[in-house]
Amino acid sequence: MKIRLAAYLQSDSIVDGEGIRTVIWTQGCPHNCFGCHNTCTHDFKAGFTEDIETICKDLSSLEGQDGITFSGGDPLCQPEACLAIAKFAKTINLNIWCYTGYTFEELIKMSQTKPVILEFLNYVDVLIDGKFVMAEKSLDLMFRGSKNQRVIDVKKSLKNNKPCVIKKYDYKENKNDYNFAHDKYLFV
Ligand code: SF4
Repeated sequence: MKIRLAAYLQSDSIVDGEGIRTVIWTQGCPHNCFGCHNTCTHDFKAGFTEDIETICKDLSSLEGQDGITFSGGDPLCQPEACLAIAKFAKTINLNIWCYTGYTFEELIKMSQTKPVILEFLNYVDVLIDGKFVMAEKSLDLMFRGSKNQRVIDVKKSLKNNKPCVIKKYDYKENKNDYNFAHDKYLFV
């Protein structure tokens, strides 16, 4: 199986989720958010394809990584390939974050006709959902660009059948605490 990528594995990131992470930059996004920083990742025919086996082999050779982050592009446009990588990542004790322009609710609805989406979500620890909205842009948010986007505890959300945001990242909860964006948090 192959995945279409915008760039190859980027290790040692500290801005794409908690801890030290390897980012998987998927190619292809249908959302066309105004103000998107990654417009070169929108075209579903651009970028390049890579074997999942090669990615897994290279992931296992990296040192000092806490987890992987699927970004893009929209990883949920390639759920089969992301699922294969996610399954492997869990075997080497990496936690999994994923960015998507879809909301959690939209993904659950989509999974009714495409069950692999739900299968993939079962491996994701943290989902940052929703389109980037310029009018909601804020530099005080951690790990996301606009206030409408949520940092979601996926396991809790699937169990409770509703999106459960991680409290410490909730804009509404923390909007008057400008120091919170500069603290160090570790995901457990
Ligand atoms: S979902 Fe992300 S990559 Fe896609 S257009 Fe929106 S900001 Fe850009």
